Amino acid sequence: MSKPTYSSATSLLKRRLGARVATARDALFAASFDGSKLSFLPEAVIRPRTNADITTVLTLANRHGVPVTIRGAGSSLTGSGSPVQGGWVLDLSQWNKIAVDADAGLAQVQAGAVTWDIHKAVEAKGWFYPPDPASKKYCTIGGNIACNAGGMHGGKYGVTRDFVLALKGFLPTGEYVEWGTTTKKFSSGFNLRDLWIGSEGMLGVVTEATLKLIPLPAARWTLLTAFEDELAAFRAARALFALRVQPAICEFLDRYSVTCAEAKSGKPVFTGQAGRPVVLLELAGSPNEIADQKAVVLAWAKANTLAFREARDRDEAEQLWEVRRKCSSAMFALGDSKLNEDIVVPMRNYEKFAVFLDKLRKSSRLPIPTFGHLGDGNLHVNIMYHRENRAEYLRAEKAVGTLMAGVVKLGGAISGEHGIGLAKTPFLRLQHSPAQIKAMKAVKRALDPNGILNPGKIFTLFKVWEHPRLTVALPWDHK
Ligand SMILES: Cc1cc2nc3c(=O)[nH]c(=O)nc-3n(C[C@H](O)[C@H](O)[C@H](O)COP(=O)(O)OP(=O)(O)OC[C@H]3O[C@@H](n4cnc5c(N)ncnc54)[C@H](O)[C@@H]3O)c2cc1C
Repeated sequence: MSKPTYSSATSLLKRRLGARVATARDALFAASFDGSKLSFLPEAVIRPRTNADITTVLTLANRHGVPVTIRGAGSSLTGSGSPVQGGWVLDLSQWNKIAVDADAGLAQVQAGAVTWDIHKAVEAKGWFYPPDPASKKYCTIGGNIACNAGGMHGGKYGVTRDFVLALKGFLPTGEYVEWGTTTKKFSSGFNLRDLWIGSEGMLGVVTEATLKLIPLPAARWTLLTAFEDELAAFRAARALFALRVQPAICEFLDRYSVTCAEAKSGKPVFTGQAGRPVVLLELAGSPNEIADQKAVVLAWAKANTLAFREARDRDEAEQLWEVRRKCSSAMFALGDSKLNEDIVVPMRNYEKFAVFLDKLRKSSRLPIPTFGHLGDGNLHVNIMYHRENRAEYLRAEKAVGTLMAGVVKLGGAISGEHGIGLAKTPFLRLQHSPAQIKAMKAVKRALDPNGILNPGKIFTLFKVWEHPRLTVALPWDHK
């Protein structure tokens, strides 16, 4: 069945918004895909300048039944930002103002503000905004809010949701709304602010957010630890948390990730322990807090690790973090493509998961380097394959299904931060009961009666294996 077109509505929109509506082929192509490389051409890309422009877009879209996909930086890894049903892309990347209230510890940010720019702006004033997706140098806060993005700091500080006080924006029907207040407490009416967070652009357009900040930690201390094997690393991590230590970051790299990083850099991650799984820890806080916790962590390291090494200064710590940041791209030595899953495993089942993953490597006959955040159990399982090898790709997709079922069985989550988008639609029913999905769909219908905002995502089964992914290199692919 051919896709409907919306040419008369697009002409009308162009008459109303003029040059803010782009229909040139290159603009449409650039907005046709996100980090998942699943590409679907829209009919127009709109760069609104004012609130009134957004109302015009949504009003016309409702009148003519045009799908609207909101776009920040397009770095989503699930296809949530790909306009799968065509229509219009509403690009908010130019809405990027940031204002910091240094007295109150708040940041007022427009949806297109890049997360890294927010970090720099608040840190310049002695404040800290902890959510730090690895894509922070290009992703937008609007996309972070829509996906409830997390990062390395999640275990101690939480994720995007934990730092959003208030939102401004538009209902799918085009009415302007504000949710929450700029006070740290509010309790009145239903909390639609939290319903918007993580709704993948299906329940409203975020134009502005008020973020809560915390004081910038005065000191940091970094420790690299190496382990005999993954089981030992997981066991030790549980022992550390049982001591009531809360590292700001606790990053795990399995032996396969470490080996890739070592091959790329040409030197061992941990001298004398090449190819061993590592856990990279960072404590953050006041010098006194760090001194207290450091003593506990060093005693733990002596008892639980194969070897450990403190970073002597910030430069050395930075070199260690560089290994962690580069390990993702280093994996492309194992295959030219990867399915990067962001599952969550409850801490009590870390060791069971290590055993499960080894079985998956054997049954899929694919390399599956894994790294992630041990503070919150959010692990990035990277299933590597060669895109020209169809049999390998199908094994990779099958492995994703096995992984999702296994994770749910272990009491975990099919996504900790990327969301469902298109790629995870086959697994939604593993995580949620029919009654839960019915309730979610009822909310969607109530707020978006014409179903115009990001249709085809989360609830509609998308057979990702039937859709070839683009082979374009994205700016962040091999960094
Ligand atoms: C190399 C790499 C590393 C990554 N690492 C992480 C990580 O560590 N943690 C993590 O959480 N994610 C990570 N991601 C995924 C991605 O960067 C995040 O999901 C990010 O939040 C998406 O932001 P964006 O601006 O690119 O949004 P887009 O991709 O443009 O959009 C994502 C979704 O948000 C919706 N949306 C965007 N803006 C708005 C808005 N203003 N109002 C309403 N809906 C909106 C879109 O419709 C879409 O559904 C990574 C991605 C890459 C490529």
